[in-house]
Amino acid sequence: MNEQTTVAVIGTGIMGAPMAANLASSGLDVRVWNRSREKAEPLADRGADIADSPADAAAGADVVLTMLADGGAVESVMSGERGALAAMGDDAVWLQMSTVGIDATERLLSLAAQRGVAFVDAPVLGTRKPAEQGELMVLAAGPEALRERCAPVFDAVGREVRWVGVQAGAASRFKLVLNAWLLSLTETLSETIAFARELGVDPAEFLDAIDGGPLGLGYAQLKGKPMIALAFDEVAFSLSLAAKDARLVHDAIEAIEDAESRLPFFAALDAQYARADELGHGHEDMAAVHHAARFAGS
Ligand code: NAP
Repeated sequence: MNEQTTVAVIGTGIMGAPMAANLASSGLDVRVWNRSREKAEPLADRGADIADSPADAAAGADVVLTMLADGGAVESVMSGERGALAAMGDDAVWLQMSTVGIDATERLLSLAAQRGVAFVDAPVLGTRKPAEQGELMVLAAGPEALRERCAPVFDAVGREVRWVGVQAGAASRFKLVLNAWLLSLTETLSETIAFARELGVDPAEFLDAIDGGPLGLGYAQLKGKPMIALAFDEVAFSLSLAAKDARLVHDAIEAIEDAESRLPFFAALDAQYARADELGHGHEDMAAVHHAARFAGS
């Protein structure tokens, strides 16, 4: 690939929009499509072309990059007559960068295989700010022969690429492990803050006491302060998508023999994120899982 590589970015939400902007800034030709067109339109000022359908975005593109909410959304924009797959050239590469889990990655891989296009499983670690700064960590799995063709795209959106396998699915598995850690930290923090309140201990004092020591993760300060203030409007990662990821982790555990009895925490984790979502906080930041620790479940 050279400077004239054309990338179709499908999905310009919190992550996809800054990724598309960074791709355009790095000199690649960028087309974007988003279901709600108004979220794609500001990217015209960054040099991207706004497409009318996934197929319009994908026609003639060297790379089609999907960054959508979940596996169902990806499947729907890629399939069908106006879907991107039908319009992709035979030599194009599909970079699937949304977090969709193991089973959906298998389904998407087989859609790509049926159509005869190359597929790279490439979810990311990092949130709104790293996406804006082009500082994501890309986890990638796919044939070695595709690595060079992926490099200009990954370089534009990421600070690091970790190739974790040659079979699609390996990167999505890695991403689930990272998400198990991230979601657990947030839930543990939430329950510890709720517990402090119950005991009449000031949760701000708790955060202050761990700050700077071996127990004081920067992440605890970042997510703990909004939990204490009950202010979740600054969304880096929505609670509804965090609940989707807690479900994906739990699904993966259910699929492993005996794992549910050995790793019981992840079922509770899934239930807490689902409950905060059901309480109506899906559009808030994932730290709003704290609502589940404040209100008794049924
Ligand atoms: P977001 O801001 O909620 O954007 C979701 C995107 O999916 C939007 O473009 C939305 O379109 C689209 N979409 C949802 N359902 C659709 C459907 N049925 N058909 C077509 N388009 C649909 O989410 P995000 O934070 O950018 O996350 C995107 C992906 O990256 C997710 O898989 C997420 O888990 C993953 N991720 C997120 C973060 C993070 O910190 N935010 C970090 C790493 C990975 P509309 O605009 O029309 O709703």
